[in-house]
Amino acid sequence: MTDAEFQTRVRERMAAVERRVTAACDRAGRRRSDVTVVCVSKRLSPERTALLPGVGLLMLGENRPQTLWKKAEALAGKSVEWHLVGHLQRNKIEKTLPLVALVHSVDSLRLLEALERAAADAGTTCDVLLEVNASGEAAKQGFDPKEVEALLPTIEALQAVRVRGLMTMAAAGDAEEARPAFVSLRKLRDKLRRKIGPSHEFGQLSMGMTNDFEVAIEEGATLVRLGSVYFEGLDA
Ligand SMILES: *Cc1c(COP(=O)(O)O)cnc(C)c1O
Repeated sequence: MTDAEFQTRVRERMAAVERRVTAACDRAGRRRSDVTVVCVSKRLSPERTALLPGVGLLMLGENRPQTLWKKAEALAGKSVEWHLVGHLQRNKIEKTLPLVALVHSVDSLRLLEALERAAADAGTTCDVLLEVNASGEAAKQGFDPKEVEALLPTIEALQAVRVRGLMTMAAAGDAEEARPAFVSLRKLRDKLRRKIGPSHEFGQLSMGMTNDFEVAIEEGATLVRLGSVYFEGLDA
């Protein structure tokens, strides 16, 4: 597939995604502008990823820090906003911090504290979401929902890190099966937001992937993370 064909196919997929996002917003009585789509480019080569700004995909997510570094370098100057959606090891914080607009996947107190130190040392700020294991599977990464409330004093004391909300990954499978996890994440966000006060802008809910983004939008997602729906079956 040539680069031009790739871009044409991605444009078609983008139009289809847009229709589905808009329809889900309509069903839920939400504004389209309340939902942001992050395009997860993790399965694409750096060369293919570099074609995305040309079709208007400028908010890109990667799940591995090293790949994000490499692609950020390859796409330097293309005004891409990078999101890290996967696990961040503490020894990769320093190099990742200056590249990303949002870390979706802070999954431990140790990581949160290490980010705070690194951002403070660098004289910058860092926007993050806390990853919550909302579907209750033992093997999953993320905070137990019951742990998160106890983090409030820590969150309020942060100077350089700004916790903007919550993220979850639903179990793979049927979209309807994911709905209860999305509902519980939204309720947790609402509860924490009430306690933490408006100045913290603790409003973001990153939930929904290719298999379940419409349900996630119906249940309040403000960020959906979509990969396969754009790229499945195209040359990576
Ligand atoms: C891969 C990935 C996605 C995108 O998944 P698709 O099912 O391909 O849309 C979203 N979030 C995270 C954390 C991922 O690792």
